[in-house]
Amino acid sequence: MQVDRIRQFTNTTFPVLSVYVNRIGTPRDRTSMNARLTELLRPIRESGDGGELSHEAAMSLRSDLKTVQGLADRIDADPSPAVAIFTCHGADWFEYVSLGRPVWDVARVGVRPYLRPLRAAEADLRSAVVVFEPRRSLVFVKHGDTFSEFGEVIEEAVRKSNYGGFSGYEERGVRSHADAVIQRHFKETADLVFRLYQQQGFDFLFLAGHQDAIEEGSKLLHPYVKARVAGSFVIDTHTMTPALIREQVTGLEETAVAALEEDRVRELLDTAGAGGQAVLGLADVLAAVNARAIDRLIVSGNFTKEGAVCGSCGWLARNGSSCPVCGSGTRRTDDVVGEIIEATIDESGEVIQVSVASALDQKAIGALLRFPLPDGIA
Ligand SMILES: [Zn+2]
Repeated sequence: MQVDRIRQFTNTTFPVLSVYVNRIGTPRDRTSMNARLTELLRPIRESGDGGELSHEAAMSLRSDLKTVQGLADRIDADPSPAVAIFTCHGADWFEYVSLGRPVWDVARVGVRPYLRPLRAAEADLRSAVVVFEPRRSLVFVKHGDTFSEFGEVIEEAVRKSNYGGFSGYEERGVRSHADAVIQRHFKETADLVFRLYQQQGFDFLFLAGHQDAIEEGSKLLHPYVKARVAGSFVIDTHTMTPALIREQVTGLEETAVAALEEDRVRELLDTAGAGGQAVLGLADVLAAVNARAIDRLIVSGNFTKEGAVCGSCGWLARNGSSCPVCGSGTRRTDDVVGEIIEATIDESGEVIQVSVASALDQKAIGALLRFPLPDGIA
């Protein structure tokens, strides 16, 4: 994951410029990307050295703006849906990341790289797909943008090219023996899926093949992996290709993610509604993050609010020029929600950025807590 590497970067002397640009749905001519970058960077260009930065820091930022503006051709030639650029000229640091899915266009200056869109784009999702086929079953893994075969199971009779064992059976016996062979083959396939689960884990499992094979095979899955089944699709096993399977899985994965997000939102709202360990709305979430109480943070879409950050102890708020905890001065942030996300991850909490419209949209943000907040805090 690129985000784990990029988040390591900090610099106290020079600002970091973070820029995200979508390529999907934009005309592929240079003028257009160049113009879009100009537009995106304009607010920073106009206010970037407006007094808050030292002369050296302002010079560094000016250089970063020029660097990003100069990337129009490279971004145009990039086949990925979106790109992210992080640059800090004064510290001689530059990162260009091609993203596997679209994000939102944004440019920000800060002491740390702005990671929120990158986190949304790099959501660390792993799906498995098993194709049940009586003679040769296949198991694939999809992890982010990569799709690969994990393994195959070839039916034993095919493997040995030896049908001798069938000869003594009567018609009825042959049928039941053939059934037993298929059962054993599917059991081996189910075992392979379980091995994948033990070795790499996965969020979702999709079942493929002819309808009757899917039904037979799914009965043999280990209960752990059965709980991860998130869909199935019928596929002609004679003409299927990995590309076709991947396409099916990609579509089903989107549906499964939306359903999972909906479940998580429901759980949060139910917990809060029942007076459990949960908070809703930005003010209470700020109190919770400052108390280091967040277990799972859920944010609706690209909900963003300005705020203040204590550069010394990390206290977060909507506003305030000095920190009530340690008395240090604060700095302004364009996206305090992004700061809450990073602070939650710093404390080993989980973060979900909900990508579709949900029941959380009204409150925009909420969290399940590790412990109740003291009365009067939230
Ligand atoms: Zn402080």
